[in-house]
Amino acid sequence: MPAMLSKCRTIYHIPAKFIQSATKSSTLPPARAFEVAFAGRSNAGKSSTINRVCSQKNLARTSKTPGRTQLINFFALPDGCSLVDLPGYGYAKVPEKVKLQWQAFIKDYLTKRSTLRGLILVMDVRHPLTDFDRGFLYWAEQRKLPVHVLLNKADKLKRGQAASTFLQVRKAMQHSASDVTVQLFSAQSGQGLDKLWEHLEGWLGCNDEADEQ
Ligand code: GDP
Repeated sequence: MPAMLSKCRTIYHIPAKFIQSATKSSTLPPARAFEVAFAGRSNAGKSSTINRVCSQKNLARTSKTPGRTQLINFFALPDGCSLVDLPGYGYAKVPEKVKLQWQAFIKDYLTKRSTLRGLILVMDVRHPLTDFDRGFLYWAEQRKLPVHVLLNKADKLKRGQAASTFLQVRKAMQHSASDVTVQLFSAQSGQGLDKLWEHLEGWLGCNDEADEQ
């Protein structure tokens, strides 16, 4: 592993902080530093993944606080970059009109946010590529936003089954207009965390900064 990656990673061991929620484009924080967004169907393990990435048990619980589930939540990393938690609107019991408004907001954020560098799409390895996932992939393709797919809960499958799902999903992504990468992951055990960090660090520009030091 190159020295610059481990140097970088120590930055992120300092706790990330919840900074702000947004309900519509006009309440988004100013686009200043790079961001990576996390999306995932309800129960795929998006909150557990954000907590694992930031080595904090309850960080992403913020997003599950009643009243905040419909919001885009921003978590600041110590260097000013942000991790952005996108709502999983699919399962909430709200009127169709409200759902459509969220979708428009998320789509707007994904397709227009100038500082957004990539999307982490968390899937349950046992149920990959749902309609929800395909919706996000489609939006990412609109601006050729890179996507890194986490096949989470890999600990729930035998190694051979997990490997076979990995190959299937990677094949399905071959012709995407976006640069899509795929990996097995377990938010529970930490399997695959190093690989995930390599992507995050690449997107957030940390490697470049480390090069200059
Ligand atoms: P979210 O709704 O996508 O934010 O999902 P959560 O992070 O709340 O996780 C949903 C459930 O899946 C919880 O019971 C987690 O403990 C469990 N879970 C999340 N990640 C993993 C994993 O990697 N392995 C296993 N076995 N369970 C997980």
